[in-house]
Amino acid sequence: MAQAIRRGDRRALAKAITLIESTRADHRLEADTLLDTLMPDTCQSLRIGISGVPGVGKSTFIETLGLHLIAQGHRIAVLAVDPSSTLSGGSILGDKTRMERLSVNNAAFIRPTPTSGTLGGVAEHTREALLLCEAAGFDVVIVETVGVGQSETAVAGMTDLFVLLQLPNAGDDLQAIKRGVMERADLVVINKADLDADAATRAMANISGVPVMPASALTGDGIAAVWAAVQAQAERRRADGTFDKRRRDQALAWMWDIIGARLTADFKRHPAVQSALPALQDDVIHARTAPTVAARSLLDLFEKS
Ligand code: GDP
Repeated sequence: MAQAIRRGDRRALAKAITLIESTRADHRLEADTLLDTLMPDTCQSLRIGISGVPGVGKSTFIETLGLHLIAQGHRIAVLAVDPSSTLSGGSILGDKTRMERLSVNNAAFIRPTPTSGTLGGVAEHTREALLLCEAAGFDVVIVETVGVGQSETAVAGMTDLFVLLQLPNAGDDLQAIKRGVMERADLVVINKADLDADAATRAMANISGVPVMPASALTGDGIAAVWAAVQAQAERRRADGTFDKRRRDQALAWMWDIIGARLTADFKRHPAVQSALPALQDDVIHARTAPTVAARSLLDLFEKS
């Protein structure tokens, strides 16, 4: 399987991603061996996160950008983290076929999100899928997320650059919700600028601290400029070392995430902890015991046996 993936075989890649998504322990072992074997072939791509509310034009944008990049000789993989994202067919916008032209292109690989699973679980699989895509020679990997909840944090934590799509006429309330996301964005694109150029200009004026540019995923206007801006930022970061540093930090954070999750699960399963937990939780809730004291006694119980 590793050899087939290195050759860029898309079917082998799809099977490998199914393997890493499996919950069976023996599959997990195989998946780990596969990932380990392929690690030297990873890390060669540019990883781009793309976010925005449903309807902003993410699929259209990814398709237009993807075709533009393929025309330049790139190979594009598209992944997603949210079960509800447009890639999965989307509970939001029905079962309209997505990225039709991109999905039939040999230089593209599009992986729908599993429709079930927690964000944490899906995000972890997406990170692994991203590595497999790189090993298969996809040199631009796009990770899509809908603009809600924690998913942006997860995507920002696994990509080199984070692009936020906005609408020209988005209301102030929406912009406020997006403020946290805005802070993580490396580039803001005002999509659908073809609909109302003046509104797009006004929307751009409202955004500060982040590079912002107009585009139309539908007509293709501005897409080449967006890509040029993405590349320029990536180049700058490669030159000043922040590109590699971000990847190193992400890799270590990923490792610690898994260690933390596993230790917490072990802790919660521990018999001594389980029997002491209800009473101690009750004490904490009713301010009879300080949270620090309760935590320490539970940790002592865990560590002693
Ligand atoms: P997503 O939910 O964010 O993936 O959004 P879609 O890509 O499905 O786009 C939602 C709708 O907006 C579709 O009907 C698209 O054809 C349309 N759309 C997307 N980008 C543009 C654009 O740049 N201009 C115009 N006029 N319509 C667009």
